[in-house]
Amino acid sequence: MSIEVIPVQGLPLIQKGDHLPALIADRIAFEDGDILCIASSVYSKAKGFTRRLSSITPGPRADSIAKKTGEDPRFIQAVLDESSNVLLEHPFVLSEVACGHIGVRAGVDQSNIEDGNVILLPRDPMKSADEVRLSLKRITGKSVRVIITDTCGRSFRRGQTGHAVGWSGTPAIRDFRGDLDLFGHVLKITEEAVVDEIAGFANFVMGESNNGVPAVVIRGCPPWAGHDDIYFRKDEDILRRLLEKELRS
Ligand code: GDP
Ligand code: MN
Ligand code: MN
Repeated sequence: MSIEVIPVQGLPLIQKGDHLPALIADRIAFEDGDILCIASSVYSKAKGFTRRLSSITPGPRADSIAKKTGEDPRFIQAVLDESSNVLLEHPFVLSEVACGHIGVRAGVDQSNIEDGNVILLPRDPMKSADEVRLSLKRITGKSVRVIITDTCGRSFRRGQTGHAVGWSGTPAIRDFRGDLDLFGHVLKITEEAVVDEIAGFANFVMGESNNGVPAVVIRGCPPWAGHDDIYFRKDEDILRRLLEKELRS
């Protein structure tokens, strides 16, 4: 297997109303089976999923959290507005968003946008990925798998990595359960979150600061079979249970 990783160069600063799939398709000749990774931040900017802090009035909970974290209460209010379930308030807000993703500050970003504005995660990133895939099919005729990424922290380990928040044209997880290992043992547990692995490498190529590369194409990656259930069910998520208990106490 030889996989090629191609940064999409020369994209402008993205504004609300920009047609991101068209801008990307202008800069790269897609092939069937390519995987296009797009930073959620630019997808959201193109769609206008952003807010101006000056338009936000913080409520009492935002005020109280902001005192503890030392952040702007209007920013915290934007985070709370995106959160369907807050799991931790301090030292940082950790919350679940509508699509099931759990992220620090609900994935709300203050970087790579003009001062005084914030970027929200797309509300329905699976639908967003579907829409980009369909657009690319229409524009280029090619069948392209799409992953919408965000840079996220992880439990237990220092260092952020890219995660997939939405995907289309592929299952999220490669399911090895039932396969035999080299010694004939049946694998009982292994499900590999391939969309996250790919998002992770794409995120590395994107960079975090002023690289200006919000889209990366992965070429030559074979398809995998599996499923989309990347988020733990509540009853099997041990960490979430502990955090919820902690927050209530
Ligand atoms: P996130 O990981 O989705 O939160 O996105 P980041 O803010 O980390 O940005 C990922 C990459 O996209 C970095 O290389 C940024 O410099 C780049 N980027 C962000 N916004 C824009 C934009 O409007 N235009 C271009 N060309 N690049 C951008
Ligand atoms: Mn982000
Ligand atoms: Mn990033």
